Amino acid sequence: MQIDHGKCVACGNCIPVCPMGAIYIDPAVNRATVNLDECVECYTCHRGMSKEHLNPTLVRTIRGFLKLLRIRFDPEPDVCPTDAIAPHDLTWPRVVRRAFIEYKRPLGLGDWFIVRTWIHEIVDDGVQVHFEIIKKSTGKLSCDGYFDYTMVNTKTGRAESIPDWIKQKYSI
Ligand code: SF4
Ligand code: SF4
Repeated sequence: MQIDHGKCVACGNCIPVCPMGAIYIDPAVNRATVNLDECVECYTCHRGMSKEHLNPTLVRTIRGFLKLLRIRFDPEPDVCPTDAIAPHDLTWPRVVRRAFIEYKRPLGLGDWFIVRTWIHEIVDDGVQVHFEIIKKSTGKLSCDGYFDYTMVNTKTGRAESIPDWIKQKYSI
């Protein structure tokens, strides 16, 4: 996933949406940025958020002006106000075939947490990725689960076998 820095207004709404903690505000450019080493292309940010098509320059100007008055303007929390989140053109796109999440303990606003992911199994046309989210202050599990991804051929829309070099690279 990628964020168009020409559109992003650094409202930060997309940060808590990402289950991998892969989105952050890059202080060097003051724009939301995706850490591609952490992103698993789950599309939660792209599909899960509503999109508005406000003019980025206008939004930045209004936010800057209100900041001078010590007033903070934030869009609704589940909205990307400028439609800045866009998927990469993946060489081998994949779809989530099945997802399982078991919630165990709640996380509250302001809680820090650790996200661990690992490839549990690679089959011919997909992988099963497991994850767990741990509350940092207690070390206790907040939730865990897995995603089954299937790799698809964009031309046929059918499942595609994973090349051997990818299997070797991610197998231990
Ligand atoms: S929600 Fe949209 S505008 Fe706000 S920080 Fe994320 S990408 Fe940028
Ligand atoms: S696609 Fe998923 S993992 Fe990647 S930045 Fe968006 S929410 Fe996070």
